[in-house]
Amino acid sequence: MMSIRSFFGILPARLPYADSNSPPESVPLPDTLTLLYSETAPSCVALRVGDEVKTGQNLAPLGAHPLVSPATGLVVEISDFKGPDGRSYTSVSIKPNSRETFDPSLAAIDDFSKADPMELRAAIKRAGFSALSAVSPDPKAWPKVDALIISALDQDPHGLANQQAFRDHADQVGEAIGLLSRAAEASQCVLAVPENLAGIAGKIPPGSHKLVLVPPVYPNGYKEVLARKYGEGILLQGKDGGVVGNTLVISVEEAVGMLSCLRSGRPITEKTVTFTNGTGTPKNYKIRIGTPIRALLKTTGIIPQPKGKVIVNGIMGGYACFSDEQPLGSDAMSVSVQSPSDVTLFQDTACTNCGKCNTVCPVDLEVNLLGRFSEYNLFDKCRTLGAENCIECGLCAYVCPARRPLVHLIVHAKQVIEAQGPEDENAEQGIPCETCENSCKPLRLFEPAPKEERAENGESR
Ligand code: SF4
Ligand code: SF4
Repeated sequence: MMSIRSFFGILPARLPYADSNSPPESVPLPDTLTLLYSETAPSCVALRVGDEVKTGQNLAPLGAHPLVSPATGLVVEISDFKGPDGRSYTSVSIKPNSRETFDPSLAAIDDFSKADPMELRAAIKRAGFSALSAVSPDPKAWPKVDALIISALDQDPHGLANQQAFRDHADQVGEAIGLLSRAAEASQCVLAVPENLAGIAGKIPPGSHKLVLVPPVYPNGYKEVLARKYGEGILLQGKDGGVVGNTLVISVEEAVGMLSCLRSGRPITEKTVTFTNGTGTPKNYKIRIGTPIRALLKTTGIIPQPKGKVIVNGIMGGYACFSDEQPLGSDAMSVSVQSPSDVTLFQDTACTNCGKCNTVCPVDLEVNLLGRFSEYNLFDKCRTLGAENCIECGLCAYVCPARRPLVHLIVHAKQVIEAQGPEDENAEQGIPCETCENSCKPLRLFEPAPKEERAENGESR
């Protein structure tokens, strides 16, 4: 088996997911919680320093998406924040009170089976879950989905948070599937479970869902990979407002969270994240949403070393943080601390055309060419090769013997393409190639896999 030096020692190139039962340890409530709002107009955040907020209150009532307060307390700071992803945010810092008061605008729904799908969608959106609003901020404009996938896999190879949600709340998964199927008006539902948790999956009463057991090998936990293998293509908005693909993928942790929220009328205020420092087994911690990384590090007792790294959401596909004040939001899945000896140093060396990056890419991109085109600012060629379809799993950089910063190059190309806006008519019809006479159309990788291939991949009952 091919082996290469990994971030954490010698590992096979076929990366297994972590598998362990890790009931979360609670991180104490910090002095300050910070929420990041990605809307470009800060005026959407209708608050002033000194305002009192309630748990569950929407702090951005003028925005397209709600910003839900995870605590009752006092607003102590509102400022601009540049995220480690290079994007701009408005940050709102709240000093929590010891006594919690809940915002009354979130109301419990008694019987999901009789509720109007629009009512369920609006309640899910108001509770701050973004999974269903990726296509449009208006719940009425959400399309019916052909395939809903509820996933019990983690995205990060060291991740245990979503697996733990499945271990701890398997008895609620059937009801969560019913709720989400109704809200999304889904024609079919797939429950995707890693093979190592087949025993737990077998205890869930058979319902309208199909069970698929997924090999626990990275990057099978990515939503895009699941949608391509077991669904009808990922749900994306096209340039004309239409929808490309029609599969919605939601983690078990999110699905059970939505169920609890709609049942109780109380918002989700906590999140489980997996912590790893390269030695020992990864471990789960429960944090209040908005907790800074430093509070988690304090609980773990791990102090990052100079020239080491703190990485959020996975050593393969996550991002390094430049401050331990970085807050962990509702989308945080894991935090990893790397020692200086584990940090991979990328180099501006030339590609040797070994082809390893192309072999491992889960969406079949020509990664070696993408890296070179981005390096030389040939972004139209990156677009033609489908750079936007890169899921940023990091496998290409992981196997590259030349240590080329492939993900950085491709992410840069994606950001330039996004800033340039939708492709023009010529690009849609095919761009004449400068070296041959063909006109190649842009790739559309998230079309569904052929039905017979999906049948081979899945196991149904
Ligand atoms: S180009 Fe690299 S990071 Fe992007 S999907 Fe392929 S292997 Fe993953
Ligand atoms: S793995 Fe690295 S050296 Fe090999 S083809 Fe890809 S970019 Fe080039």
